[in-house]
Amino acid sequence: MPTYDIVVKGGTVIDGLRTPRYKADVAITDGKVVQVGKVNAADGSEVVDAAGKVVAPGFVDLHTHYDSQVFWDPWCTMSGWHGVTSVVIGNCGFGFAPCKPEDRDRAMLSLARNEAVPLKTMQQGMPWDWVTFEEFLGSVDRTPKGVNVMAFVPLAPLYGYVAGIDKAKEQRVTDEELARMCDLLIEGMRVGGCGFSSQNLGEVGNVQLDFDGTPMVTDLMTERELGAFCRAMGSLGRGVAQMTGPLETAAFMARESGRPIIWNALLADGALNQHGGAQQSHRDAIKRLAELNEQEGLRVFAQALTTNFRSEFTFEDYNLSDAVPCWREATVGTVEEKRVKLADPARRAAMKEIHEQRGGLFGAGYPLAEIKVHWISSDVPNARELKDTYEGYTIGEIAAREGKHQIDAMLDVAVAGELRVGFATPLLETPPQNMKEIATSSMALPGVSDGGAHTKFVTTARYATEMLGLWVREHNIMSLEEAHWRLSYYPAMAAGLKGRGFLAEGAPADVIVYDPDTVDSLPQERLWDYPAGEWRLVQKATGYDRIIVNGITTFIDGECTQATPGRLLRHGTD
Ligand SMILES: [Zn+2]
Repeated sequence: MPTYDIVVKGGTVIDGLRTPRYKADVAITDGKVVQVGKVNAADGSEVVDAAGKVVAPGFVDLHTHYDSQVFWDPWCTMSGWHGVTSVVIGNCGFGFAPCKPEDRDRAMLSLARNEAVPLKTMQQGMPWDWVTFEEFLGSVDRTPKGVNVMAFVPLAPLYGYVAGIDKAKEQRVTDEELARMCDLLIEGMRVGGCGFSSQNLGEVGNVQLDFDGTPMVTDLMTERELGAFCRAMGSLGRGVAQMTGPLETAAFMARESGRPIIWNALLADGALNQHGGAQQSHRDAIKRLAELNEQEGLRVFAQALTTNFRSEFTFEDYNLSDAVPCWREATVGTVEEKRVKLADPARRAAMKEIHEQRGGLFGAGYPLAEIKVHWISSDVPNARELKDTYEGYTIGEIAAREGKHQIDAMLDVAVAGELRVGFATPLLETPPQNMKEIATSSMALPGVSDGGAHTKFVTTARYATEMLGLWVREHNIMSLEEAHWRLSYYPAMAAGLKGRGFLAEGAPADVIVYDPDTVDSLPQERLWDYPAGEWRLVQKATGYDRIIVNGITTFIDGECTQATPGRLLRHGTD
């Protein structure tokens, strides 16, 4: 009779706790790691040959927006493909609970723009069998999952539920409403929310707006409101808050709450993300983090953007130019409205001016001349002719050929193709020294996965694989021991996923087996697997032999086993 469910034989264990690597077999039974040492192969119902491979804890992805996708994709891919065994949803203050039935479409409209999840996909793919946050967690709990899921209580839905989103935007909230929202936050945490999340980007230069081009309800939050939420969380004596916005706002939150704060985001100098470059030099941000943490004694973690940048986009649903008013105005509305606006020469004058002033598309620094027309939909009139003339050419080439300004060259092609024209930026590489400085800074949590969001534009949910395959293997920015600690235990600790993120006897068996010489992301591809016939941009992974969640294998060599051993993790009780 075999003693163990799985024996992982002959691998190199890197345990996520920065223990120097060692060779050992790992025995797994009943969802737990039960032995790390010498184990007989004959004692396993299943034996995984791990010779030459690394055996490590699964990754903990703190920054995701799988709040809708978890209902149609149990493995929360891309994360599930890239060795992630636990995700945290409900980031940036966005989410779907609590939500009155009559406000569901409004909630989905917000997410359709600020995180760019297609509206039809959400409408068709979500069960909406909840009103309260507790009922939402119950629904996630019942849904089959291939990864563990923990959730923040997002603040935007609290405003919607208590005061109404649009009313709260106009006149904020009364003391009674604020008190009621704080009670709902505490109730949400009592049933398992790990804290709260918020986006506080203000009005100017805001990169993630509501569906109508106005700031999100949390963006204009006053200190009175934010302080009240912080003190409410602090009164429970547990929990963490995630905040996308200024570092000083995160410091204020840490002081008011006495709790850890996860601040978004630490960007390396010379790096671009989906919203353009950083507002602050990374050295200044790291210095300020050190002051806040080491001198003032706060706990402010930094989500560090640790992927190189590449984007594909169409103007059908693009929202990543929202920080620039003329682009924001032109990209709000129906597809037909947007097409008319993008064809308008008067609007283009302002776009050209920004382009001249700041360089690059949207003033964000993407080199416009190098952006390529990589795809034109076959359904548009004259598709054949458009494809022959433009597909595969850069904007710089088209502008030169047609004697046009680059902005005109790009928008003329977009308009001719009824906005169903895909553009692609080249890969923009962050200088390795700068990446090293942010990724190894003391409070950095690698990532800004954004899994489940911006699904047609970016594939940053590959970050864990990129850390191992590019930044550690190619550029040696840190040891593998440190990388696994930063990808698993450190984020688990920061967000309060207790007892996870490391590989040890007695711990839940969230385990990956991978080849450190070959682990890598595969090229970007367009996958037509979203509800309502929608597509998304993805990158799969290679080099992962096994991904095991709670002792059950979910992926073998990249192939999904269809197993759904993931659990809802309730903060405070799990
Ligand atoms: Zn986010």
